Amino acid sequence: MRGIAAVPSYVVMQPTTLCNLDCVYCYLPLRAADRRMPLTVAEAVAASVNPWAASGRFSVVWHGGEPLAAGREHLAALLAPFGPAVEHHVQTNATLIDDAWCAFFAEHGIRVSVSVDGPRARNGERVTRGGRPAYDRILAGVAALRRHGLPFSALAVVSRPEPGLATELYGYFLDLGCDVLGINIEETEGVNTRTNARDAAAVTGFWAELVGAWRRDPRIHLREIEWSLRYAGAVLAGTSDDLLPRRLDPIPTVGHDGSVVVLSPELAGFTDPHYGDFSSGNVLTTPLAEILAGAGRTPWVGEFLTGVEACRSSCPYFGFCGGGHAANRYFELGRFDGTETEHCRNSKIRLLEGVLEHARDHESPAA
Ligand code: SF4
Repeated sequence: MRGIAAVPSYVVMQPTTLCNLDCVYCYLPLRAADRRMPLTVAEAVAASVNPWAASGRFSVVWHGGEPLAAGREHLAALLAPFGPAVEHHVQTNATLIDDAWCAFFAEHGIRVSVSVDGPRARNGERVTRGGRPAYDRILAGVAALRRHGLPFSALAVVSRPEPGLATELYGYFLDLGCDVLGINIEETEGVNTRTNARDAAAVTGFWAELVGAWRRDPRIHLREIEWSLRYAGAVLAGTSDDLLPRRLDPIPTVGHDGSVVVLSPELAGFTDPHYGDFSSGNVLTTPLAEILAGAGRTPWVGEFLTGVEACRSSCPYFGFCGGGHAANRYFELGRFDGTETEHCRNSKIRLLEGVLEHARDHESPAA
């Protein structure tokens, strides 16, 4: 894997910066402001995306702020320029989902991913602007999805890994009815400056316990665990070199104003005296395809690629990780050419260690 691919597999779009919640660990700087994406931005993105979708699977992920806070009418107008081959996804806090939104998702073929951190007691940091718990409203949104028979994914943030939590969470999400689950250990990113340094044994133990819970009832696609097991299988088969893509997916995030930030959605909306606004261009003046073709020339991106090469030559986990995320390096290390971060310790190194710990504890030695 070297360099950045010119064509992504998906694009992240920010229909509004606004979020109706104010979660304690949120990284978004402008979540109290309603800056909406004009239709001209969606039209410009669609001009590049439609040909890509015609020649292979392609997704647009509507991410905010809270994308539903843009309203159905505005979101429908933003969706209109995209052709029928484009798959649409929303990442939502679910609090605004009702019957009308479910009808909208069905009509537009939108796949929903809900942010929820587990049972009520685990959602204390998901709160409204007035500081009130959002849990009941989240569950009401999920109930509407279930009533309408709409499949959905879930994304949970774990702030304090501790014994028993993984089993509790996995059981909760089985009952919730999601078919895909992603788990993020809380990250120090954006305006969330809380430390993400965690006790190594607690994090490794969390992942090991999660593998055990999943293996007992593997009805949910568990993003991190399935990827780890695929990697472990490839190592045993001697094919792990083929697992990472040939080039990094640029994952362009198109901000509400049309600016494009590659590799890390979390960098969108930030500026730095040295790196500027992190953007590689704006779709209102340059086609997205052209911006991505030249993204490697964005100064911070070049520095990040240097960091990836440093990871490749120094880290035994590189074949599994591929060099980590740009935003974690920036927000933890203040630069892009470093290597290890707390994030990669929590979510790459200890994840793989947890899978191996589970294997050591549960597999009988070969005869
Ligand atoms: S685990 Fe960390 S140090 Fe290793 S390749 Fe990934 S980002 Fe780099």
